This record gives sequence, C-alpha cells and structure tokens, in this order.
Amino acid sequence: GNIYLNRENSRGLNLNIGSQYQSFMEKVTSFKDHQWHAGPVVNGETLTTGQVNKVVSPQDLSHQVGHVYWADEQGIEKAIATAHGAFPNWSRTSVEMRASALEEFADLLEEHRHELITLCTLEAGKLLQDGIDEVREAVDFCRYYAVEARKLFAYEGPLMGPTGELNELFVQARGVFACVSPWNFPLAIFTGQIAAALVTGNTVVAKPAEQTSLVAYRAVQLMLEAGIPGDVIQLLPGTGAEVGGKLSSDERICGICFTGSTMTAKAINRDLAERKGAIATLIAETGGQNAMIVDSTALPEQVVTDVIHSAFTSAGQRCSALRVLYLQEDNAERVLELLEGAMQELTVGDPIHYQTDVGPVIDEKAEKELNEHIASISEKNNVLGKSPMPQATQKGSFVQPIAVEISNINELDKEHFGPVLHVVKYKAEDLNQVINDINGTGFGLTLGIHSRNESMAAYIADMVNVGNVYINRNQIGAVVGVQPFGGQGRSGTGPKAGGPHYLYRFITEKTRTNNI
Ligand code: GLU
Repeated sequence: GNIYLNRENSRGLNLNIGSQYQSFMEKVTSFKDHQWHAGPVVNGETLTTGQVNKVVSPQDLSHQVGHVYWADEQGIEKAIATAHGAFPNWSRTSVEMRASALEEFADLLEEHRHELITLCTLEAGKLLQDGIDEVREAVDFCRYYAVEARKLFAYEGPLMGPTGELNELFVQARGVFACVSPWNFPLAIFTGQIAAALVTGNTVVAKPAEQTSLVAYRAVQLMLEAGIPGDVIQLLPGTGAEVGGKLSSDERICGICFTGSTMTAKAINRDLAERKGAIATLIAETGGQNAMIVDSTALPEQVVTDVIHSAFTSAGQRCSALRVLYLQEDNAERVLELLEGAMQELTVGDPIHYQTDVGPVIDEKAEKELNEHIASISEKNNVLGKSPMPQATQKGSFVQPIAVEISNINELDKEHFGPVLHVVKYKAEDLNQVINDINGTGFGLTLGIHSRNESMAAYIADMVNVGNVYINRNQIGAVVGVQPFGGQGRSGTGPKAGGPHYLYRFITEKTRTNNI
C-alpha cells in the first residue's frame, strides 16, 4: 500500500481569499513592535548570564526586534551534561509518547503561526509567504517523522532462521545529537532536525544560526509547552566558532545534524574524527551551484516565471535556488527579453508588505560579499536584467536582483547565496559538455529542466548528478514526504530530509539472540 496515505501535509493559509488576507495582516501587524527575548535553554530554564546581543531587522537596521543572551562556557557544559544525563530515560520512553509529543508541538506551531511568521519576517527578513511556508514545513516535519518513527520502531517479530534460537532485531536511539541549523530556514530546518532526533529517542543540544536565535527560542518554548521534557532539548544560541566548536569536539555528542556550508561540514567532520570516543554520525545538508537547462522546445513564458521564482524567491537565499541558467541559443533571445521585463516588475522592499517579491539578504556581511561579486562579474560581462531598488531599501541589507551573462559555470569560484542569476548560452550540440560542466562543480543539489521533449528531459535528469530534479517547473520549495530533499557530493551526505530514510541515520540497531 501507499505508505504516505496515512498522513496529510499542513494546508497553510490561502491569502488569495480576501477575508483570510485581512485577518492575517491584522494579526501580523499586531506583532510589529513586539520585543522578543532569547537565551540558552538548559533543563527547561532560560539562562541570562552570557554576552547579550541586540537583534535588528535586516530590512531596517535601526529596528530592534529584541535581544539574545549567547551561551557561555558554563552554559554549554551544562547543556551537554543535561542532555547526556537524560538519554537513558528518554531513549526508553515509548515511540508513541515521543511521536505524540511532537504532534502536540506541531499543533502549537499552527496555533502560534502569526507570531512565528512575523518573527521570521522581522528577524530573518523573510517574505510573509516564506513565513507561512516555514511554519507549514516545520509542522509537516513533526507530523511526518512521527508517522515514520512509529513504523521504524514497530516490533517486527522474530527473524526466522535455522539456528533454533529466538532472533530479534531492535532499533534504538544513538545518544545526544547536536543539531546545528541555518538562518535561511530558521523555523523549518531547525524544527526538522530536532524532530527527527527526538522522535527516534535521542536527546538534543540545538545550536541555531546566530542571526536567528529568537525564532529558535520561541520554537523551543513551544516544545516545552507541548510536553517535551526540559532535559531532552537544550538550546545554545551563539556563534559557530564558540558553540559549534565545543559541540563537535565533545565525545558525549554521538552525532551532528548540520545544515550550512560545505566548508563547515568538512570542518565538523574533521573535529568529529579527531576527538576521542565513538565514531560519530554526521548528517550534512550543504550548498549547491544549481543549474537549470532550457532547450529550444521549452515555453519561454513558463521558463521565465519559473526562473524568477527559483532565483529570486527568498532573495535567492535557499540552497535549492537557481544560480546558473543554461539557455539553448535558439531560444535564448526570447527568454532573455521576457526575463528582463519580468525583473523590472519585481518589488524589492520590506517583507512585512505582502506585495514584496524580494526582501533583504540576511546581514551586512552578506550584502557586502554579494555586492563585491556583482561588481566584479558585471564589470567583465553583459548585464541582462536588474530590478528597481526603491529608496526604502537603503535602510537595510538589500542586494539588487541581477542577471549576468557568463560563459561557463566553472567561472564561479563558489556558491553566491543571494539574488544573483548567472546565464550561460549553449549550442544544442554542446549539451553533453554542459552536463559535464555542471557535474564538474562537484555540487549536486537541485537541477531544473525546461523541455517539451520528454526523452530529452529524462536524459538530462539521468545524467546530471543531483539530489532533486524538477522538470518544467521551478526548482525550490520541496514538500515534506512528497519531494524528499537533499543533495550529493559537495551538497550533502544524505539521507534526504522529509524522506522515508531520514530517520535511519538517527538510530542504531541491536540484534538479540536468545537460546531459550
Ligand atoms: N528545502 C528547501 C527548498 O527546497 C531548501 C532548503 C535550504 O535552503 O536549506 O527550497
């Protein structure tokens, strides 16, 4: 039977219905001037000892959203010790208890969605629609992993065999997982990692991205409210160097679930390898250099809609986002003409307005790096399109959405995590070279294909080494349980988040043979 039939994805909100839109905006606006506070959470208590930091909004650097205490050395030690001490009990609770606690948490996320969406917008600069999708994905992760864990932990009975003994196979939790999450999905990925670790009976020390501690803190408060015991989930806001480094070198941590850059994933892997104790597990979801290949049979209007969505949604700050658009020459001029026009129509600005298409990038450092890249690349190359930049964008960390022609994907030294689209024109006879070049980056996250030639699309999908291929549509926004997400090569270790094999990496197995 279809194993997905016994669950449903969260429906989110449909703001195209006028009355829903109005009440949604009223609720969002009611949180606009709210001040949020956060700090390390250890054994259910919020610590207020370490360094205190102001949190400002990326769209308006003069707008303070709240403040956060970063974890100090004592806090980190206490968190690891608490999670370690809680493991024997938590791992022996029933899967039903753990799964239903997560389902309860999912309900609370929905109940508090307006606050969480507003917080995603104010703290991380996400569009309101992105915020709606964040809550939805977080909820889906909890409900999906709850169902998967019940299946994984179901007793399957003895293994039949010739030994004349009673042979049984059990799955069990591993230990304390460190969950290290990114700012671009401050609620969804944060929640997904923790939900997977907890539901399989592990205890967790979570380190959210330093830019998005407030969302993480609210989520942990709701976990506690949902009945997840305080000693099984610890939160450590702080920097990667301080908190992350301590976690990856501590032998009480059995594994790390990480989403972020390839470089950091490798550094974690090295730390884990060098410490004493068990061989640790690393689950890493990292960057990409994602391409879309458009052949001459594609429909230009559809291509442009999907390109805009893939490259500029979330200001291009998704690891799934389109970075390099390959246009077959015969089709290129028409697509580029439409693309230039469409880019003119993008509204760049404050994401608190529902009409905004492109919000800010995460912080001034990101803005500076992206602008340097744009300056250097547009000096040597053809600029194919730009979006207007209203006055108000000067208050925050905004980067002008831009499309620039380059001649090959390998001109890009690294992943540029923002609203920068690179365009390469190719000749039909060079398709295999294009495929080699894309594979040559070593990344393998998403690929878009636009073609009405089915066998062509199937050929490209087969030849390019990536985790997620999207044909005749945009290439972002993977849906939990339906489009399991994650890459290969420099893009990640797998297994795919929101997929049926994800939980396996969080468990270990025990075979019991009893000569009764
Ligand atoms: N799952 C997200 C998507 O498909 C991307 C996740 C990420 O950026 O880390 O858009």
